[in-house]
Order: sequence, then structure tokens, then C-alpha cells
Amino acid sequence: MIITLNMKITFFSSKPYDKEFFNKANQQFNFELDYFETHLGPHVLNLIENTDAICAFVNDKLDAEVLEHLAKKGVKYIALRCAGFNNVDLEAAKRLGLKVSRVPAYSPEAVAEHAMAMILTLNRKTHKAYNRVREQNFALNGLMGFNLYQKTIGVIGTGNIGAAFAKIAKGFGARVLAYDITENQELKDLGIEYVSQEQLLSESDIVSLHCPLMDSTRHLINADSIKKMKKNVMLINTSRGGLIDTKAVIDGLKSKHIGYLGIDVYEQEEKLFFRDLSHTIIEDDTIQRLMSFPNVLVTAHQAFFTQEALDQIANSTLTSLSHFEKNEEFENPNAVLV
Ligand code: NAD
Repeated sequence: MIITLNMKITFFSSKPYDKEFFNKANQQFNFELDYFETHLGPHVLNLIENTDAICAFVNDKLDAEVLEHLAKKGVKYIALRCAGFNNVDLEAAKRLGLKVSRVPAYSPEAVAEHAMAMILTLNRKTHKAYNRVREQNFALNGLMGFNLYQKTIGVIGTGNIGAAFAKIAKGFGARVLAYDITENQELKDLGIEYVSQEQLLSESDIVSLHCPLMDSTRHLINADSIKKMKKNVMLINTSRGGLIDTKAVIDGLKSKHIGYLGIDVYEQEEKLFFRDLSHTIIEDDTIQRLMSFPNVLVTAHQAFFTQEALDQIANSTLTSLSHFEKNEEFENPNAVLV
């Protein structure tokens, strides 16, 4: 008698909502799912036993040391339940024969809509209005915003999310400028103008970042690029924290060159985000400084967090693992990193 065992997948950084959506999606696959709340990193390698696949998230650390250990323990597949993959040493994975997948496009609108929500909150100060009115303060002083209509909005990176964001911005009647290393004809047909990065920075009232974090894009926003921006610019980052040199941005806020900052991602977020730290002393003075500005809005990497996105993430991640196991071709080749 041949006994076939179902693939075992060990999850790291898992939250109750991951369990809910993955357990639901797994009804089609019947894999064995094992959930750990802790981050994946060198400190938890002893937790990995008899597992075929690791399912990891944005702040799990998959460097060469971790990957070597996983390969030694018999792990065959790494499935990232996110789009970005800057936290994985792909060269090491290749060398070790590990297959790596990601979720290349899950509801890009989820992130694009959150970027616009950040813009509207910073601009129209609905977060302040909400608290004021609850305290029976109906005064408008300090709540004045500006029309997005006919303002210039610059989009850096027009892939899945940047394109969805550019269309939303266009819907507000804004002039939309774009910069990417490849141009999207559909956006051009909609009247979105591709320009150089310099022109985008110098003409935009709002700059929204949607390119991936790579060596070439790390600290794309730094003291020099801030100097090129318009005075009082609004800067939005829902992509990856490392795109911004946080210290330079703090200087830009202090000098009032940057008028508004909305960030859903932060360079040192792995020590903070996705946890309730309300009873602890935060040692990171940089985030504390950022949060002390009245014109800064920080959300904790929640741009992806919609029901539609979580459904797609869970289905796509388990489908990729099933394709790896059955040696099947992927419908979207961008889901395979190695
Ligand atoms: P994508 O691969 O579809 O698009 C990325 C685009 O950036 C591509 O068009 C690419 O050509 C462009 N690009 C690459 N290098 C560039 C450069 N130097 N300058 C300008 N453009 C450049 O990716 P996506 O699905 O649109 O996601 C974008 C990023 O958003 C991801 O890398 C990820 O880091 C981030 N993200 C964040 C969240 C969140 O919850 N905050 C969720 C999903 C994705």
C-alpha cells in the first residue's frame, strides 16, 4: 500500500486573520498547515521539523544562513505571501535548490486605494475632525485642505499598484506624472504623462512611491531628491520603507520643505509593525520623532489588508505550492522567483 502524505507548510509571522483565510483556501488543497506567530530568522530555526514548505511574510528574514538551515532540514519550497521579495537571498535559494514563489499581483487596488486614503486624510484631516466632533468641538480652524482637482500627482513605479493608483489619481481630475523604467501604454492612453524622475519631483504637489526596494532604489528619496521637490510637497510611501532615507525626510519636515508625509512602511518596521506595543517603551527614537509631527500619518503596513486581497493571497500562495509539488506550469510566471 502506498501512503501519500500531504505537504506540510509551516507559517511564520502568522496572525489570526492569516489562519482564517488560509484555512478557508486550504479546503481545496488539504495541505497540513502549521502556524507560528514568531518571525522567521536565525533565532527560531529549531522550530523547523519535518516540513516541506515555509510560508513567510514581509519581515521574515530569509538570508543565506536561514536558507541553508532550511535546505538541510529538508525544506523544498518557500512561499512568500506577499509581492515584495527584498527579504530573501534569491541567489542562495537558487544555489541550495530551493524553489521560491511570491504573490505577484493580489488586488493592487487594495494598496492603491490605501495610498489615496492617506492623501485624503493628510489633506482633509478627517482623523482630526473625527476626534474634534466627538468632543463637541465643531470649529474648522486648522482643518483646511486643498483640492486634488488640477493638482499634479507624481507616481514613481507604474507596475500593478502604481498603475491602479495613477488611474485613481486621474479620476480626481489631477494631472498625473509617472516615472518608471518601462512605460505602460494603457496609462499613456489615459493621459498620464511619463517624464524623467527629476521633472516628476520638481513639478508634483504629491509624490507617491510604488517601485520595489532594490539596491538601485534604496534611499531613492534622500536629501538631494528632497531638494528637487516642490516646497510643501506631500510624500506618500506604501511600497517599502527602505525607499526613503528617514533621517533626510525628518530634516525635510523640520525645514517645512516636506509639507505632509504618509507612510505605511518604515525602514525599521520589523521591530514594530504587526504587534501591539501599547504597553512597552519604544526604543526607536526615529519613529517616535516621525509620529510627533502633526502632518505625518503612519499606518502599520496595512495597505494590503482587505478581504479581497487576503482571499487572493491565500489562494495564490497555496496554488503556487501545489504547482511546485506537481511540477506544473504557473499561469503567472512572475509568481516564481527561483
Ligand atoms: P510591480 O512589480 O507590478 O511594479 C513595480 C514597478 O516598479 C514596475 O513597473 C517596475 O518597472 C518599476 N520599477 C523598478 N525599478 C524602478 C525604478 N528604479 N524607478 C521607477 N520604477 C521602477 O509591483 P507592484 O505589485 O506594483 O508592487 C510595488 C511594491 O509595492 C512592491 O515591490 C512592494 O514592495 C509594495 N507593496 C506594498 C504593500 C503594502 O501593504 N504596503 C503591499 C503590496 C506591495
